Amino acid sequence: MCSVTLVTVVVVAQFFVVLAFALAAVLLNTIDARGFLASTTVGFAVMYGGGISWFVIVAVFFSLGVVFTLYKYGYKRRLGSAQGKGGARNWPHILANGGLASIAAIWNLGNPGIVPAAIFLGAVSTSAADTVATELGLLSHSQPMLISHPSRAVPPGTSGGVTALGFVGATFASIVIGIMALALGILPHPYLILPVCVVGGVFGATFDSLVGATVQRKGYCVVCLKPTEALKHCGERTKATQGKWYIENNIVNVVSTIAGAAAAYATLLVLTPLI
Ligand SMILES: [Zn+2]
Repeated sequence: MCSVTLVTVVVVAQFFVVLAFALAAVLLNTIDARGFLASTTVGFAVMYGGGISWFVIVAVFFSLGVVFTLYKYGYKRRLGSAQGKGGARNWPHILANGGLASIAAIWNLGNPGIVPAAIFLGAVSTSAADTVATELGLLSHSQPMLISHPSRAVPPGTSGGVTALGFVGATFASIVIGIMALALGILPHPYLILPVCVVGGVFGATFDSLVGATVQRKGYCVVCLKPTEALKHCGERTKATQGKWYIENNIVNVVSTIAGAAAAYATLLVLTPLI
């Protein structure tokens, strides 16, 4: 009876910690109102399934995203490439980036072990690497090149456009997630953690660029005629000119977290017999 009460107290405390973080994120204008619900759901799934250490990893990813989104925000806005609404992320973006991490956490609840932990780290590293690469890449002095045709220059902010600075950003973000995971002991063997995070994150972010360059929807706004990758612009449905009409940025993010998680898992499989 006593232990049941204790478990209930812990779960309620976990919920309030998640709620406090999500509320702080809304007050800081980093997520919008529906993003609050999505963040609370993702945050609580991660906290409940993986515990406080997994939640800290997600909080670190979120903080990296906020810092790099707001860094030189005015310049990115003048470039026309800044995230809208002062950088606030909406619910599809949060679910696309946090969905697989939540699933890994729930999996870990019934079956704790190194496999769900590696999947989780690969997914979060990918989201962190992709976010930092995008935000830092926008500040690059050299023109982005299309990853599928490296001789073709594209405007900053184009999906599939890559820069050396973006690649540095992706690697940096994966290393930060890896160091935090190492400090928190998320995988039992410390030598596994950095390679799992860096290979997962850099592969996932590169995969994101490849999908972005090839099959992601690109088009223009029928009202203001500006090129856009969004499904809607100026309140109207945009017209697609290349890629598959249904593959928009959030779908690309979901697929990339799966690719990053698969790369992290493969790294785990390759390295485990060696240590
Ligand atoms: Zn428009």
